[in-house]
Amino acid sequence: MKIFTTRATLSGYLTEQKSLRKIIGLVPTMGALHAGHLSLIEQAHKESDVVVCSIFVNPTQFNDPGDLAKYPRPIESDIKKLENSECDVLFMPSVSEMYSEGEEWNISLNGLDSILEGKIRPGHYQGVTQIVKKLFDTVMPDKAFFGQKDYQQVQVIAELVRQYQIPVQLITCPIVREADGLAMSSRNVHLSAAEHQQALVLSRALNLAQQLFPVKTIPEVKDEISRFVKQTDGVELEYFEICDGKTLQPVTDKDDEPLVALIAAKVGGIRLIDNVILE
Ligand code: AMP
Repeated sequence: MKIFTTRATLSGYLTEQKSLRKIIGLVPTMGALHAGHLSLIEQAHKESDVVVCSIFVNPTQFNDPGDLAKYPRPIESDIKKLENSECDVLFMPSVSEMYSEGEEWNISLNGLDSILEGKIRPGHYQGVTQIVKKLFDTVMPDKAFFGQKDYQQVQVIAELVRQYQIPVQLITCPIVREADGLAMSSRNVHLSAAEHQQALVLSRALNLAQQLFPVKTIPEVKDEISRFVKQTDGVELEYFEICDGKTLQPVTDKDDEPLVALIAAKVGGIRLIDNVILE
């Protein structure tokens, strides 16, 4: 596996690969890699010739400095995991390699950045679009792989690609879960064993929503799920919404398919998110 830390050296190498007509697949991450990230690498390997994984803890997408400071950064073990995977290239730039001093810009995301996660984490999706745009500009991938785990992020990036007419194919990969149902996340390492058990309420709530969906109205499902989550000690529900799968606007009518149920909750001070497509 080749490792690059500068945009110039990475793009020099990829220009050579493109001249050989190689298909470039990009998997952007913030590191602390788990099986969810590795599933994206695997998918990228199936669909491209050169798999580029980036590890960059992007400061502009953190609105809470405490969250940024304690974000796990086990770079040595990440490199080992990537070496044992189908990853061909690791890009791990410094902050000054990706941002200039005082840099500030926003794009209009059709309101997608001010609802759900965006409402609770103001500026988060502007940070996400900034770094993903820079990665797309540097790597110029044919395909980019993102997890359904961050459903709203996928819609935000689709909007970025649409607005800038970026010639990249976006591929959404399924959520990888622990055996007990908890969606894998780099933040799960902060959960104690007891909190891990409490956190299972998120995936259980989504399973219940799937069961209730065919037989109840949407407001009934929302009420029942909110009650279900609030019964669990140590879990603070931030939102449970049933939304249009593209605009992420809340819906009350089941005919507006595809629909997605999204949940966010704090467990022991750790924010967790999860979602399921409703069919
Ligand atoms: P992150 O490092 O959290 O920024 O995530 C990098 C990529 O991995 C994003 O596209 C995430 O959606 C994806 N990802 C994170 N957790 C999972 C998971 N449990 N299953 C599938 N993809 C995931």
